[in-house]
Amino acid sequence: MDLLNPHEDRFDHLDPTSRELMRETIRFFENKGKAKLKEDDHERRWYADFLEFQAKHKLFATLLTPAEQADGDSNKRWDTARNCALNEILGFYGLPYWYTWQVTILGLGPLWMSPNTAMREKTARLLDEGGIFAFGLSEKAHGADLYSSEMMLTPLGDGKYVADGGKYYIGNANQAALVSTFGRDSDTDEYVFFAVETDHPHYECVKNVVNSQNYVAEYALHSYPITDQEILSRGRDAWDAALNTVNIGKFNLGWATIGICTHAFYEAITHAANRNLYGKYVTDFPHIQELFTDAYTRLLAMKLFSSRAIDYMRSASSKDRRYLLYNPIVKMKVTTEGETVINLLWDVIAAKGFEKDTYFEMAARDIRALPKLEGTVHVNMALIIKFMANYFFNPGEFPEIPRQNDAADDAFLFNQGPTKGLGKIQFHDFNTAYASRDLPNIQIFRDQIEALKGLLLKATPTEEQSKNMDFLLTIGELFTLVAYGQLIIEIADLDGVEDDLLDRIFDFMVRDFTRYAMDLYSKSGASEAQMEHCLKMVRKPVRNPERFQKIWQDRVYALKERYEMNP
Ligand SMILES: Cc1cc2nc3c(=O)[nH]c(=O)nc-3n(C[C@H](O)[C@H](O)[C@H](O)COP(=O)(O)OP(=O)(O)OC[C@H]3O[C@@H](n4cnc5c(N)ncnc54)[C@H](O)[C@@H]3O)c2cc1C
Repeated sequence: MDLLNPHEDRFDHLDPTSRELMRETIRFFENKGKAKLKEDDHERRWYADFLEFQAKHKLFATLLTPAEQADGDSNKRWDTARNCALNEILGFYGLPYWYTWQVTILGLGPLWMSPNTAMREKTARLLDEGGIFAFGLSEKAHGADLYSSEMMLTPLGDGKYVADGGKYYIGNANQAALVSTFGRDSDTDEYVFFAVETDHPHYECVKNVVNSQNYVAEYALHSYPITDQEILSRGRDAWDAALNTVNIGKFNLGWATIGICTHAFYEAITHAANRNLYGKYVTDFPHIQELFTDAYTRLLAMKLFSSRAIDYMRSASSKDRRYLLYNPIVKMKVTTEGETVINLLWDVIAAKGFEKDTYFEMAARDIRALPKLEGTVHVNMALIIKFMANYFFNPGEFPEIPRQNDAADDAFLFNQGPTKGLGKIQFHDFNTAYASRDLPNIQIFRDQIEALKGLLLKATPTEEQSKNMDFLLTIGELFTLVAYGQLIIEIADLDGVEDDLLDRIFDFMVRDFTRYAMDLYSKSGASEAQMEHCLKMVRKPVRNPERFQKIWQDRVYALKERYEMNP
């Protein structure tokens, strides 16, 4: 596995129709060219050309209609593997193009999950006609606190209602064919999801709250008439639909991040390799080689982890809910790693990263968004921590999951069931992966894991510490690294990633583990015993200059001038 190169990639892992859709999308952007891409970004121009392209080629319709709604079209299915390929491509060319697709996915979630057959059929038709969709969950005053939603649906009798209230930060809500709107029944106080149309006279698109190509709307419903036909779900089902939709959507943020970092990487390495200072190329400086190699291995690790996480998303079932751990890690860890990659590259290319003609300028701005959307890093970490005890101390038995690139429909994602019971979910034993590769840095990392387990068992966080989010966040970072490394090794085994590269990935993993251990050590509430365990986690990777040079030359420097967007 390597980084996406739009000029070279053939998407061989996909079926012929999907492959062609990916190539067609790449052609759209390459024909548009970099100058126009940048001009539209600077002018904050609504991406009507891209939406026209997607409608003409039925891009969203083919990729986002589950088989059940496909009406005999064998190309239509919900296939996480190919959706991620498109996520990566759209991120590669610009986050706004990805965002309109992403919020369409979110908007479709409660619609596809709904038992309302007529509404599902209408959705399939609108999508086939090229429609985009929106997800009206957030409200101005409440942020992550969904319990406080104030959008109200007032029953009038005879299956009729009126909806009143406002939503905030809602992508596509200027033009969406349907907006899935989350609110509460004013009589029963139960949650409810219903669909509204943006061209209805009682729908007000108040304003765009951001200054970008995207339309991230504030919208208001003023006595908007609703009937039972527009109701998607109620009560616990509506609540679950909100969270299960976010489960599907937030996975995409990691893949958009990978796309952004990849394009930025090509620009950075090509620039640095051609810039001569004091009679030397910038890429000849040892510290620049370190920065690039770190950026490359981090980026590849992001892709390896996220690829393996696809396998768990696609093989999920009510009996195998392991995806609920790996999915938030894609959302939270991969997106923050993306920020690190851009920081590293920016340290190399310095002033160039500000230039208006570069892709990098957009990447440096947009990369900040991804950790913050669809649940902040904190919210996802709070979720992940619930899995920690079973992950470390109570593994379950599961059949081995092979790679999941087949042209199958991921129907379970729209039938995920209740969102509770997270603490009971079991995982397969992480030691199996770690024992499968005998490499110096993996060995050190395993010692660090043992030290963490020692802390959890022998200097167990107190009740007070367990309620302190600040303390928990750092423990969560350490736990995340263990699961991150596990899936990286699993896919390295399945896809044959070579020892040198894998060991170099664990070079930064060991350093990151050490850094978080020091963070934990420094917490004001950390006990003497906990600090001692933290010191056992402080380790240094094995440095191998020969291996470093090999990776630098063969994998990293080799990417100079390998890709340049059509001007
Ligand atoms: C460009 C953009 C597009 C968006 N698109 C959409 C969309 O299409 N549809 C939609 O519904 N929403 C959308 N959103 C809203 C987005 O999902 C919210 O920004 C997000 O849910 C977080 O809310 P907030 O930013 O208001 O932060 P707040 O909820 O105000 O959080 C403030 C702080 O408290 C922390 N915090 C809050 N709750 C917890 C918790 N339980 N545990 C630990 N820490 C916590 C947060 O991490 C954060 O640091 C969009 C936002 C933006 C900026």
